[in-house]
Amino acid sequence: MTTEQSATFADLGLSDELLESVLEAGYEHPTPIQEKSIPHVLMGRDVLGGAQTGTGKTASYALPMIDILASGSSKARMPRALVLAPTRELAQQIAGNFTTYSKRHSITHAVLIGGESMGDQERALEASPDVLIATPGRLLDMFGRGRVIMSGVKTLVIDEADRMLDMGFIPDVEKIVGLLPRIRQTLFFSATLGPEIRSLADRFLINPKEVKVSPSATVALTVAHTMISVTQRDKPRLLRDLIKQKNVQTAIIFCNRKRDVATLSEALQRFGLNAGGLHGDMAQYKRSEMLESFKSGKVTLLVSSDVAGRGLDIENVSHVFNFDVPMHAEDYVHRVGRTGRAGRTGTAITLVTKDDARYVDSIRRLTGQPLPVEPPEAVTKPAPALKKMAPEAATEPEVPTEATKVAPAVEDKPAAEPQRDAAPDTSEKRERKPRSRPRRAEKPPAEKPAQRTEGNKDDRQRAAKSRSEPKRDGVVGMGEHMPDFMRDPGGSSGDR
Ligand code: AMP
Repeated sequence: MTTEQSATFADLGLSDELLESVLEAGYEHPTPIQEKSIPHVLMGRDVLGGAQTGTGKTASYALPMIDILASGSSKARMPRALVLAPTRELAQQIAGNFTTYSKRHSITHAVLIGGESMGDQERALEASPDVLIATPGRLLDMFGRGRVIMSGVKTLVIDEADRMLDMGFIPDVEKIVGLLPRIRQTLFFSATLGPEIRSLADRFLINPKEVKVSPSATVALTVAHTMISVTQRDKPRLLRDLIKQKNVQTAIIFCNRKRDVATLSEALQRFGLNAGGLHGDMAQYKRSEMLESFKSGKVTLLVSSDVAGRGLDIENVSHVFNFDVPMHAEDYVHRVGRTGRAGRTGTAITLVTKDDARYVDSIRRLTGQPLPVEPPEAVTKPAPALKKMAPEAATEPEVPTEATKVAPAVEDKPAAEPQRDAAPDTSEKRERKPRSRPRRAEKPPAEKPAQRTEGNKDDRQRAAKSRSEPKRDGVVGMGEHMPDFMRDPGGSSGDR
């Protein structure tokens, strides 16, 4: 966490009670985004914030909001502040921050997210929460049922607006904004501030103060980055060797596709490794359970889709592995931001195939880091560890099987959609619109793409294009390329 050593929280105009809560939370100095935004929020101005999770942005709006809300009270079902978040995990985390920061205040909050009991949430609304933290779909459902009244909302926060855009939630957000009083304070945060995001901000904000911290500054300096070249086929074996040889204690392993999450975590378990999977098709209670197991150390290797890439604040993650190079450079920043938190050191290791060249280039441009791709020998010892592996490992084929020889086109959905579980309520359906990931090119481009000049414009254009294009083959995840030695001999390898 980068903090400006010269500034103090007391300089920012927060109340004494909040200063005590902040101190108790262990924060010594405000982060740059906090220093830049808190005074403006306290003055009642709209804020356009360019910052992502990991920069301390939640406190940059939550702290001043608590002071603003302190002078007043809410009525049943009529919150005075609304925070919109794209994912349930982020919503829950924001709620946790409000709990921490409002210890010395009587400010209450309720969380409305899909996949959890409507009844409980309805009761929470009856208890007159001051702050409502919600994903858009569930909030609209509650509104449709007459369970929540929006006319009392004086402060609106739209968090991770770029993620909302990617996930197709903007129409819902627009509906919600249309239900709020016109005279209100709006705080709008996005990791990137490209043209699409700015035009959204123009619609929602009035004369905002723009504050931002640059994305490259948000890749923690305490994280060591390594990129290793590998073939698609060799990825699982290399990962296993790395986990063994690097003495990995706690790691998040990111896959681009949901079905690879299940397959890989099962394969790691068969090697005797303590792995579990997390992806957006799991029921919410299973996701929460898995996260808890990981946080408590019951599971030490969390194989995940990008659902865990943002918004999650888990202490002591020593390693992040990108089993697949993310197709969006910002996702790289989010993923590696799961390690090296709060000044600790961390290691990010990315497995790179020859088809990933352009994605690696755009990660280099975004992070401003050279990120050389090294051969596996440079980072691993030869693998005598095989003998120590579970019995299946010994059956590793000498030659590729039919399944591993070629990289057949694989039809699958992208993994990045965080909200696709089978909860019965209708808000789930609304929250199901997937982010259309661009399909990976068959071959790396002959030339480097033009230098980007503005945020993630290239990625956004690709995403927009892919939304309008029919699905093409060519995304190569692990799927059918799983070497036999990684498969369950009994054929029960899960939801592939
Ligand atoms: P966020 O970007 O809001 O998700 O915050 C990321 C992490 O930084 C959370 O664990 C916060 O508790 C922590 N944090 C926020 N502000 C500070 C601060 N000023 N000093 C130290 N840690 C902070």
